Amino acid sequence: MNLSCQRAIILIFISLLCLWKTSLLAETPRVVVLGFDGADPKLVSEGIKDGLLPNLKQLKTQGSFLPLETTNPAQSPVAWASFSTGTNPGKHRVFGFLKRGEKNYQPQFALIKVDRKKIWGGSKGRLLISFVIGTIFFLSLFLIGKKLAYSPIYHYSSGVISILIFCFCSYCLLSYIPEEMPSPTAFKTGDSFWTTAAQAGIRTKVLFAPIAFPAEKLSNGKLLCGFGVPDLCATNGTWFFCSTRFSNPSSNETGGWNIPIEKKKQTHFKAEFPGPKNFLRQEEYQKLQNLLPNTDFKSGKSIRNRLAIVKKELYMKGVLSIERSSSDTITLTVDQQTISLKERDWSPWLTISFQMSPFITLKGIFRCCLQELGEHIDLYLTPVQFHPSHSLAPISYPESFSDNLAKENGLFPTLGWASATNALKDELLEEDVFEQDLENVIQAREKIIFSSLEKDDWDLFSATFYFPDRISHMYWRFLDPKNPRHAEDVKKHPQKRQTISKFYQRMDKIIGQVQKKLRPTDILLIVSDHGFAPFRWQVNLNTWLHQEGFLTLEKQEKSRRMQVRDLFESKNLLRFDWSKTQAYSIGLGKIFINLKGRDPQGIVAPEDYERVCQEIQAKLLNLHHQGEPVVKRVYRREEIFSGPYVKETADLFLGFHKGYRVSWQTSLGGLSSEAIEANKLKWSGDHCSVDPSLVPGIFLCNYPISKSTLHIQDIASGILHIFALEGDNLDGKIFEIAK
Ligand SMILES: [Zn+2]
Repeated sequence: MNLSCQRAIILIFISLLCLWKTSLLAETPRVVVLGFDGADPKLVSEGIKDGLLPNLKQLKTQGSFLPLETTNPAQSPVAWASFSTGTNPGKHRVFGFLKRGEKNYQPQFALIKVDRKKIWGGSKGRLLISFVIGTIFFLSLFLIGKKLAYSPIYHYSSGVISILIFCFCSYCLLSYIPEEMPSPTAFKTGDSFWTTAAQAGIRTKVLFAPIAFPAEKLSNGKLLCGFGVPDLCATNGTWFFCSTRFSNPSSNETGGWNIPIEKKKQTHFKAEFPGPKNFLRQEEYQKLQNLLPNTDFKSGKSIRNRLAIVKKELYMKGVLSIERSSSDTITLTVDQQTISLKERDWSPWLTISFQMSPFITLKGIFRCCLQELGEHIDLYLTPVQFHPSHSLAPISYPESFSDNLAKENGLFPTLGWASATNALKDELLEEDVFEQDLENVIQAREKIIFSSLEKDDWDLFSATFYFPDRISHMYWRFLDPKNPRHAEDVKKHPQKRQTISKFYQRMDKIIGQVQKKLRPTDILLIVSDHGFAPFRWQVNLNTWLHQEGFLTLEKQEKSRRMQVRDLFESKNLLRFDWSKTQAYSIGLGKIFINLKGRDPQGIVAPEDYERVCQEIQAKLLNLHHQGEPVVKRVYRREEIFSGPYVKETADLFLGFHKGYRVSWQTSLGGLSSEAIEANKLKWSGDHCSVDPSLVPGIFLCNYPISKSTLHIQDIASGILHIFALEGDNLDGKIFEIAK
C-alpha cells in the first residue's frame, strides 16, 4: 500500500474521529448555572426596558425569562437548599437561618450543627499513644542493646528513658492538643443535583456553592463552598471596627466588635482584637470550674487564681501595630506583614496565625480599610476567614481544590457572607467603603469563576454570586420614597439612587463575559433564590404575642436587646414565663406553640392546639397598621411542607405584606416596646418573612423552555433531566429545554 493511500486512510480516520467527537460533543450538552442571590425580576425587567442590561435582554429574546417562584419562607438558606436538592424544606430540613434548640426553647443557628469530636480518642487515647511510643522506644533500644550485647545498666537506663519518653509524650499530647475539636455537620439533607450528576459520571464543577458546607463530596468533580461557610471564629462573620474613638472593646448587635486603637507612643498605636476560641483554654476553664465546688479554701484559692488567668486566654488574639508614618499614611504591621495605607485604601489579603499550642495553629486571612485618618484613626477589618490553603474546615472538595484555586488566582474570600452589610447597618462603615468591599469580593470571585470556566474539565458548571442581595438589603432606601430614611439619605447621597442598578449592570456584564466563554451548544441558566420588597416597618412578633396575651414575660423582664453574638455563646436568651406562655417567636417570621408533651414546659393541651393556632392566625390577619393590613397570610407548617422533618419546625409561618418584616429583635427572641416600629436602619430592603408570592426570583435561559411558570425546586429536576438523570424523590417538576 503506497504512502498516499496510507495518508488517505489516516486522514479519513482522523476526520471520522473528529466527526464522532463533534457529534459526541453535540450529544453531551454542557450546562452552566449562574446563581445571583436576591436578583429581582421587576428590577431586571426595568433594567432591560431602560437598555441597561443587554445580555439579560438577549437571553430574554432568544430564550426565556420568568419570575421564579421561591420557597416558603423566602429566605436564602431555604431557597438555595431547594435549588440544589429539588425538594421542599420538609425533606431537605433547612427551614431558615435560625431554628429552635432540640430540648430547649433557645434559638440556634440552623445551617450547621457543630458537634465536638474527640481528637486521638481524648485523654485515654493519648495515654495509649504515648504508651505505644514509649514501648516502641524501649523495644528498639532493647533490640539495639541486645544486638550490640550492651551491659544490663544499658537496658535499665533505656527502660527509664522510655518511661520518660512516655511521660513527655503524654504531657505534650495531653496539654498541647485539645481533647475535642468542633466538627461541623450540615442540617441540609438529600443529594444536591451536582452530587447526583457527578456520581453519574458527569464532570462537575461548583463554585461558591450555597448551603453546601461542610463541602459535599463529588465523586467526579470539584466543589468550593460559598454561602453558609463560617469565619475562623465559627460565626457568621465577626467583623472589627478599630478606632481611636473607643476606649474599651465592646460587641455590637450584629456580631461585630468595636475595638479601641490605643496610643502607645507619639506616632505608635496598637489594637488587639479577639480571634477564635482557644479550645485548650476552654477545656482547662471547664475542668477548673468543675473542680471548684469540691475544693477547700486553700486549693480553691489557687484554682480561682488560675481561673482568672485562663479566662483572659479563652479567645486567641490578633494584634495590629499601627505607625502614623505621615499625616496621610499609616504603616500597619500584623504577623510580620507590613503595609502602608492612605485614607480609604483597602489592604491586600493579610494572613494571620493564631497559635493554640506548639502543635496547633489556626491560619486565617482578612482585609482592612483605613476609613478615616484625621483627628481619629478608623480601621475596618473584615471577618478573619479560613485560609484557602490552610483551612481546618472542609470548605472545598477535594480539600486541595481551594488551595489550587488560591495558587492559580491569589487569595480570595472564603466566608459565606463576605460583605460588610452589618458594619454599614451599625452605621460604622460608610457607603463608599461598603461598595468597594462588595466590588473586591466580586472581582476575586469572578476571576476564579472565569478561569475555571475556561478549563475543559466540566460538563456541569455552577457558580453563585451574592452581591445583588447585599446591595438591595442596604440600598433599597434610595429606591423607596416611603422608607423612613429615604429623604434624608437621598439628600446626603443623591447618586446612590442608581447604585442598585449599577450592580445589576455588573451582573449583566458578568453574564456577558460568561456567554463569551461558552460553546454555541452550551445551555446557560440564570437563577436567583428570591426577589426583594421594601422594609419600612419592623414587626415585633413577641411584643404582639405579649400584647395579645399569648406570651408572658418573666417577672422583672421588660424589653431586652439581644445581640447576634448571644446565639453563638448559647446564652439563655428567652426570658419568658413558660408556665403562662402559649406561643412565642424566634427566627425570621415563625411562631412556635408551647405544646404540652412536645415542649420542655409546654402548657397548650394537644386538644387546644388547633384553637390556639386559628386564634393567632385570625388575629394576625386582622392586624392593621395605618389602615393597611400587615400580614398577607399565616401558613400552617403542614400546609407548606411535606416530608420527614416537618415536625421539627415552627407551627406557623408568616407572610407579611410589602413594607413589613419581622423585627431583628424578634428573630433572636427579643422584645421591644412597640409591636410595630419604623425601620430606621440602613438595612432597608428585604424578603425574609415577606409573603413568598411577593418576592419571586428570576429564571433565564439561552433557550426557550417548555413551561411558563417555574418553582426554584424545579431547577434541579430540569438540570438532571438534561443529562437524562433523575433525582431521588424530588418535589421539583422536569422542564424541557427547547434546543
Ligand atoms: Zn437576602
